Amino acid sequence: MRSTKLGGHLFQLTRFGAINAYLVREADGFTLIDTTLGGAADGLIAAAAAAGGEIKRIALTHGHGDHVGSLDALKARLGSTVQISMGELDARILAGETVVEGKLPGSWPNVKTVPDTRLVGGERIGSLEVVATPGHSPGHVAFRDIRDGAVIAGDVFTSFGGVAVSNHFHFRFPFAAMATWDGGKDLESARVVRALNPSLLVVGHGPATPLPAAAMDAAITRAQR
Ligand SMILES: [Zn+2]
Repeated sequence: MRSTKLGGHLFQLTRFGAINAYLVREADGFTLIDTTLGGAADGLIAAAAAAGGEIKRIALTHGHGDHVGSLDALKARLGSTVQISMGELDARILAGETVVEGKLPGSWPNVKTVPDTRLVGGERIGSLEVVATPGHSPGHVAFRDIRDGAVIAGDVFTSFGGVAVSNHFHFRFPFAAMATWDGGKDLESARVVRALNPSLLVVGHGPATPLPAAAMDAAITRAQR
């Protein structure tokens, strides 16, 4: 696992060069955003320790396997003190409910952990404001750090070879588009993230993009075609 410090509050944790999780520093320790695939619990806990704290909260952008894969193992290691939250609809999908009509693309693994909080947007998790961004998955959420305007956008965008909306195939990382549930809603959510005017955009797959406004505008224009 590679750990990259991005400003004062944020660490990007990357596995296999392509799958990101994030540590957001708070006064009492870290909020972990996403958990990557299975097998990462020890590495994520060690990355938090190396960054100077413990994981106090886990917040998930969405329920796909490359984001919730190590959730059960983290819960087993960290116990009941860790507070877990994720989008309402994705939590219900992982609980086995049918919440949307038709096909649901992407990998939805067996997850035993029940989130403490189901998010719908507008909540606060420490310094993070929850922003509803459905489309890539039905209950996808993004997180905006109110301290510096950094936005953790999950899979609304990817950033390999430049910022791209995950509603259409992008040759550098086609997997995000393959897993997207509703391309129209995903594009709408890309506009919502753009309207937050992020100081820094970080995503589930690809490097961080400082001052991403122009790149997001171009990505949204391409995605409308
Ligand atoms: Zn995904």
